[in-house]
Amino acid sequence: MEHERIAKLKQQFPEGTFLENEPMSAHTSFRIGGPADLYAEPGSAEELADLIAASKAEGVPYLVIGNGSNVLVKDGGIDGLVLRIGPKMARIDIVPFPTGFGEEWYTLTAEAGCLLSEISAAAADAGSVIGDETKGLTGLEFASGIPGSLGGGLFMNAGAYGGELADTVQMVLALDPETGGLREILNPDMAFGYRTTALQKTGEIAVEATFLLQPADREAIAARIDDLRTRRVTKQPLRYPSAGSFFKRPEGHFAGKLIEDAGFKGYSIGGARISELHAGFLINTGGATAKDVLRLMHVVQAAVSEKFGVRLEPEVRILGRD
Ligand SMILES: Cc1cc2nc3c(=O)[nH]c(=O)nc-3n(C[C@H](O)[C@H](O)[C@H](O)COP(=O)(O)OP(=O)(O)OC[C@H]3O[C@@H](n4cnc5c(N)ncnc54)[C@H](O)[C@@H]3O)c2cc1C
Repeated sequence: MEHERIAKLKQQFPEGTFLENEPMSAHTSFRIGGPADLYAEPGSAEELADLIAASKAEGVPYLVIGNGSNVLVKDGGIDGLVLRIGPKMARIDIVPFPTGFGEEWYTLTAEAGCLLSEISAAAADAGSVIGDETKGLTGLEFASGIPGSLGGGLFMNAGAYGGELADTVQMVLALDPETGGLREILNPDMAFGYRTTALQKTGEIAVEATFLLQPADREAIAARIDDLRTRRVTKQPLRYPSAGSFFKRPEGHFAGKLIEDAGFKGYSIGGARISELHAGFLINTGGATAKDVLRLMHVVQAAVSEKFGVRLEPEVRILGRD
């Protein structure tokens, strides 16, 4: 990226707003990725909008990330500005939602930088808001072990063990990067599908979402979260950096099973390996480059396509320059 454009963009914001040549390996669960020319963590939707408007005016490309748990950043890093929506935008509010029908409902509103695990825990521990410590709010237990932010989850329609964000999201507040305006997107207009939402088409950026939840027995909620944690810990290679399941589930199949049946369990290229515990996970066994991961991805795709006639599509978003 031209130094002059970067310098002009930097000038418009207070000192300390940006990091320069920030290694993306520090911001991705894969622990892989070259440097971003510029990196910032906005503290509000307004700051985010200002940063985007200024980047556009200076011709500096920008890219939004959340917790970096569903991305593979290439070794050459990222051109322009990376905007991380993280802990500086992580407020959660829970309030009663009057229905008028006698049923008890609550809304949980969270900023996009909240971790899904934090939102799940806030719902489970909402007893003091409900006015009954034996209760919590149910519906977000499935999200407790997904290591992403709410924003990344809304972009992907994150889900696990039979639940997905689409089930309980009532409304998403999104920033339109073209106009700088905010839009309330109601659930049906989010076009939720399997690992897809309207945000992938419109380029809008989620800044907040509201969930509609009902009270339930607190111990039952905790038991469900515990059960899901045990299942994850025993079935997923959580000791190694990864981006979770690397491929989308092909219709009628499981990616991990196809990869295993093709004989690739434990297969490595450089520091990248097909996990022995769960063949759907491509793991970084130490010092893997994005090139290693991409070569492994291509080898596995070709083998599965040849043996089973199934095309594996990456679920992980591949970003950056070679
Ligand atoms: C060990 C492990 C287990 C996992 N298990 C699951 C699972 O069970 N289910 C599941 O669905 N996923 C799982 N994942 C993948 C990942 O955690 C989810 O996809 C998560 O929702 C990604 O959120 P993120 O904040 O990390 O997004 P990032 O990886 O930071 O970004 C992903 C995409 O979302 C976009 N994005 C990020 N924030 C915003 C925003 N605010 N507005 C618009 N776009 C945005 C980015 O541009 C990028 O294209 C797992 C990952 C790991 C490492």
